[in-house]
Amino acid sequence: MSREWASLDGKLVPYESAVVHIASAAFKYAASVFEGIRGYWREEDGTLRLFVLAEHLRRFFDSLALMRLAPPWGPAQVAAAIEELVRANELREDCYVRVAGSVSGRGNIATRGPVLLSVDAFPLGRKPGARGIHAGISSWPRIADAMMPSSLKCIANYHNGRLAALQARTDGYDEALLLNARGHVAEAPTSCLFLAKARRLATPRLADDILPSITRRLVCELAAARGLTVDEREVTRSEVYLGDEAFLCGTGAEIQPVLSVDRIPLGDGRPGEITRLLAGAYLAAARGHDPAFRERALPVALGVPARSGA
Ligand code: PMP
Repeated sequence: MSREWASLDGKLVPYESAVVHIASAAFKYAASVFEGIRGYWREEDGTLRLFVLAEHLRRFFDSLALMRLAPPWGPAQVAAAIEELVRANELREDCYVRVAGSVSGRGNIATRGPVLLSVDAFPLGRKPGARGIHAGISSWPRIADAMMPSSLKCIANYHNGRLAALQARTDGYDEALLLNARGHVAEAPTSCLFLAKARRLATPRLADDILPSITRRLVCELAAARGLTVDEREVTRSEVYLGDEAFLCGTGAEIQPVLSVDRIPLGDGRPGEITRLLAGAYLAAARGHDPAFRERALPVALGVPARSGA
């Protein structure tokens, strides 16, 4: 079983019935915010861990607030809906949970409610990019925070990343890297960038129009715990070409080595040592194997009793 059920306003519904109306503000104006959370399955104790769930819920409610959406449900109800759904779908493997708050009300551009809570949960293992990707600098600049809040996970923002992703694929790259309007490196369509040079890491600042990525923050913590220095600063385009190694990070992406940018190989064109170290550290933390992160890898009591919740 994997995707039999979805959750709408805290109730399980058959997957194919989880739909919104074409006249809703969500459909007409992209009035919808979301979060993507990964669940990590641990075979040894039969637990699924929703990694850094509290951080995702916090950002979800920040996104709702920035969009001036005031749902009648709170973080506890969202967490309960997620747990109920992963049980109902019997997810005993690594998975992805997408939570959205969307204006289901019909009306004009200023319609603010009702805000529908939806949850989708489905199996998702390592992506092919985990082995390394070839990136191209996009000619689409990353949206500036002063235009549409780049710190918000509003689906409208994703048109910017989508254009860049489509352009990159058309041009034969795996992934796009977007510069901000000032010409400095911002991020990829759904992940953030780290660059390593002479064993020192750099990553663009929050003020460089990036999403406040939860994985980026975790990578900074993991790097610090291993004695690596991370500078959060403006990163120039030419610095990226001259990096020893680089990687992208994100909840869905996890850690993806960047092997080349605009066909210029980074280092020897293979995943670098620091990238491999942090990728291993990240997956260990996500699965609850790093004591420093265990409390942020919340187990869902799956399988006890078997088939509960459905
Ligand atoms: N940037 C954008 C635009 C994203 O959608 C994501 C994925 N949420 C990221 C960066 C990485 O953020 P996180 O580590 O919180 O998943």
